[in-house]
Amino acid sequence: MTATVTDTRTAVADMVLDVRDLDVRYYTEGGVVRAVDGVSFALRRGERFGLVGESGSGKTTMGLALIGAVKRPGRVEGGQAILDGVDLLGLSEAEMRQRRMRDIAMIPQGAMNFLNPVMRVRDQVIDGMRAHGMKATKAEFEDRVAGLMRSVGLQPEMMTSYPHELSGGMKQRVSIAIAISLTPKVIIADEPTSALDVVVQRQVVETLLQVQREIGAATILIGHDMGLMAQFSTSMGIMYGGKLVELGSVEQVFHDPRHPYTKLLISSLPDTAGKRRLEGIPGLPPSLLERPPGCIFHPRCPYVMEQCRTESPMLREVEADGHVACHLFTETMA
Ligand code: SF4
Repeated sequence: MTATVTDTRTAVADMVLDVRDLDVRYYTEGGVVRAVDGVSFALRRGERFGLVGESGSGKTTMGLALIGAVKRPGRVEGGQAILDGVDLLGLSEAEMRQRRMRDIAMIPQGAMNFLNPVMRVRDQVIDGMRAHGMKATKAEFEDRVAGLMRSVGLQPEMMTSYPHELSGGMKQRVSIAIAISLTPKVIIADEPTSALDVVVQRQVVETLLQVQREIGAATILIGHDMGLMAQFSTSMGIMYGGKLVELGSVEQVFHDPRHPYTKLLISSLPDTAGKRRLEGIPGLPPSLLERPPGCIFHPRCPYVMEQCRTESPMLREVEADGHVACHLFTETMA
């Protein structure tokens, strides 16, 4: 299954989330930053989508926009995020609160550090479920928490622990348990393994994979580590300067990247002992305050053409389930 892009003429079978022309800007003293610029993609039920890009490419902002959590000076300026027929971007804060965790949940960056140090794990998980509308008896809540602990590979007895009694990996599993507690249809995991050592990173991704399979949620994994992306994802998106520049299956993106930026990313990856990490490419990422005209990648692109300096390429389907935003591929579609 591969993430794709829809328009008014096409529909993706079994689609759960359809993001169209998402536009998020930050109004800073220095000017307007277009953090997410016309991003469109669609996810099928149960799809595992890896989203990759350098720092500042808009990945986290996109995730925050989908759960209605962009804070000032940021603002969602346009687009739609249709989850099972409902546009999440059109909901009031109160409506969105009801949908968060039930329909769409995010494991934010550094989630384990957000656990309340003076509350037992059990009470934090129950609080989360209550805050999002779940009603149950004390015993039912406790049964649910015990089941969640098992789902994320923790002993149910650990639910009476305080966060400081748990390791980093265990705390991150608790964060995953909170995110899946109301069985959302979509989970966004933003760098869920950062600050963990390599072995624990793999275990946490394995846990995410296991719970994703268990509840069947479409999952967006935001990250930098290409090895973990390959371990988890079935499809991948590459972001650059707030834009989605390539979409495809993991195999296609790793073995036959099309966009010049993706090609450079893949070719610049060290491949030591199977650990591949996104190290960036020569040149500087674009200033989102002073975006270059035309294709935002043109100042760094080895294939730049005259047209690239003035015309911004659209994300287009180049082959079944493969999309790229680059003028080199315009002819393919003619
Ligand atoms: Fe390079 Fe032009 Fe393609 Fe942009 S549109 S990636 S500058 S070839």
